[in-house]
Amino acid sequence: MSLARHIIFLGAPGVGKGTQAQRLSQYLRLPHVSTGDMLRASVQSGSELGRRAAAVMDSGALVSDDIVMDIVAERLTLQDALAGVIFDGFPRTVHQANALDQLLQHGGSQIAAVLHIVLDDEEIVERLSGRRVCPVCGAIYHVRYHPPRVSGVCDQCGAALLQREDDQPEVIRKRLAVYQAETAPLVAYYHDRPAYHRIDGDGAADEVFARIVEAVREKG
Ligand code: AMP
Repeated sequence: MSLARHIIFLGAPGVGKGTQAQRLSQYLRLPHVSTGDMLRASVQSGSELGRRAAAVMDSGALVSDDIVMDIVAERLTLQDALAGVIFDGFPRTVHQANALDQLLQHGGSQIAAVLHIVLDDEEIVERLSGRRVCPVCGAIYHVRYHPPRVSGVCDQCGAALLQREDDQPEVIRKRLAVYQAETAPLVAYYHDRPAYHRIDGDGAADEVFARIVEAVREKG
């Protein structure tokens, strides 16, 4: 059995991690594992975990490391994760990165690439405030840069698009502050590893994706 080779997307909220992770997932045929999507699904399901996570998420703060590690550890046991997954929005703290290293070491798996997408703060706020998401299939749009064919309707599945609660301006500011405090230290954590790649997040999604493919190919 070959070992799992996982890919991590790193970067502030709004740099395009979700969009690029979805594309890379199709390109490499590896599952897209977004802890944000999984947490939103538990909130929707009304589970006990979802109830605990909902208020924290709406405020822009981070859900506890224990909850997140439980969700991730369980996800990695599924059959489709055996060759590797594309993580999106995880790890988010140094504690989670350490816990992931330990988890992978036990399983003999490794991190094949850390893709750190970099973008100016102003551009980030612009992207997040215009973002619209499909609550059914997870497709991501932008009112100006990537509008759906029919305003407010998902191209892929026809569902009504939503603005995420945490994409409101005050919550965006809070999420960026949380990123600086809790997640930005992960750049130093991964920076010296051969798997680390800094990716310029400016420009059209196609251009950014081409940079990502080049970085992933380099890793072999
Ligand atoms: P995202 O969709 O990645 O922007 O995540 C939305 C929200 O879910 C975040 O603002 C956090 O409240 C929570 N969340 C997602 N991933 C994590 C994680 N790895 N650690 C802690 N909280 C997370």
